[in-house]
Amino acid sequence: SNIPKIVILGAGYGGILTALRLQKELNYNEADVTLVNKHDYHYITTHLHMPAAGTDKAENARVSISKLIDEFKIDFVKSTVVQIRTQDKKVILEDGTLSYDYLVIGVGGEPETFGIPGMNEYAMNIRSINSVRLIREHIEYQFARYKREPHRTDYLTFVVGGAGFTGIEFVGELADRVPELCKQFDVDRQLVKIINVEAAPTALPGFDPELVEYAMQVLTKKGVTFRIGTAIKECTPDGVIVGDGEEIRSATVIWAAGVRGNRLVDEAGFETMRGRVKVDETLRAPGHDNIYVIGDNSLMFNPEGRPYPPTAQIAMQQGVTCAHNLVASIRNQPLRKFEFKNKGTVASLGKGEAIGLAFGKTYRGRTAAWLKKLIDLRYLFIIGGIPLVLRKGKFF
Ligand code: FAD
Ligand code: NAD
Repeated sequence: SNIPKIVILGAGYGGILTALRLQKELNYNEADVTLVNKHDYHYITTHLHMPAAGTDKAENARVSISKLIDEFKIDFVKSTVVQIRTQDKKVILEDGTLSYDYLVIGVGGEPETFGIPGMNEYAMNIRSINSVRLIREHIEYQFARYKREPHRTDYLTFVVGGAGFTGIEFVGELADRVPELCKQFDVDRQLVKIINVEAAPTALPGFDPELVEYAMQVLTKKGVTFRIGTAIKECTPDGVIVGDGEEIRSATVIWAAGVRGNRLVDEAGFETMRGRVKVDETLRAPGHDNIYVIGDNSLMFNPEGRPYPPTAQIAMQQGVTCAHNLVASIRNQPLRKFEFKNKGTVASLGKGEAIGLAFGKTYRGRTAAWLKKLIDLRYLFIIGGIPLVLRKGKFF
């Protein structure tokens, strides 16, 4: 048929928003839309620090894709993309091939280990439902192991690489979980160490210094040890090597020290910086007027020339513009320029504690924690309406 084919790769923040908007804006038979995703669920990355630490169920961080999209309007294909072939306008899946007229790349980022030896082999990442289930089980297993080998205190040492927002949110949750684990496994709390290692001269580099100070106070009080200005140089089966060669023995290393774009994007031949394509103002890859790149795989600069950090917030806004531009292309109408509207940043520090910067003001403590909940509920509402808010929302 002559109906244009739109293929969306990835049902993350960017991909889901694109699909939902297309489903709303396209008229009947105006385009065939196919959404491809590795799993049959969408996961809420911004919630993953909780199931990783075991303070919430993994179930609350994922939603079945069939519950989000209208399958009369969008074909959902559960498969893994293995190659993007722009010359043939095809996408190779693990179990088939798709042709497209318009492509949206939203397969999200991957951990960046900067070539640090042993990091891929021995560290874990907070990235997906599967990766956080592994972390949670691993942590519990260390407590169980320790009871059999009480001289192995390294089983009770948890190293988190990176004090960016991911590292900070995770240590906050883990510190909340530890007392419960100590009780469950009859372990002395004093023996458990949570060590957050950060290479930069401060935690949360670039964020409001007073809020950073507050965050460190809250987390230190909860039992987190910070090693600031200390780079992890190597990861081994026995722990990490930091700074000038000091070893921190630990059976658990969580690497939260960087994200990059997806390797699929590098392999497809786009010009990239760490897997991210510098898109034009309309979100298209340079030289490809039928390919949109959104979310963690795209690179955009603010008016001061600094790259926007890869966030769910920007991915969602890009999804909306991307859908608008796809519809406009099909209708031969002018495309819209993407403009990021920064609504602020709020990060959790565990139960009832958070820090935030929004509407030109700073927030801390309980107010910030409520703001964080509000942002989470708003997202559930945007993608799934009231029913999803009631099913997955955490109100307390
Ligand atoms: P993603 O949301 O990562 O989605 C990518 C999708 O593509 C996934 O569904 C994945 O399964 C699928 N996929 C991947 N590879 C393939 C393949 N080969 N084939 C098929 N499908 C594939 N940002 C904020 O703004 N606020 C926050 O509070 C916040 N908190 C965070 C907390 C944590 C713990 C983490 C790790 C990140 C957080 N972020 C936050 C960042 C945010 O999650 C990302 O920027 C955002 O998820 C990027 O969206 P995306 O659409 O590019 O990709
Ligand atoms: P990040 O890149 O923001 O932070 C990584 C940190 O690791 C940096 O502080 C860096 O200095 C440090 N680091 C790098 N190499 C190191 C080494 N060898 N040893 C020790 N430390 C090292 O990554 P992230 O925290 O995963 O965040 C990724 C993106 O997701 C960001 O854009 C962030 O804003 C977003 N995010 C937002 C929230 C939120 O808004 N609540 C939560 C999580 C993530």
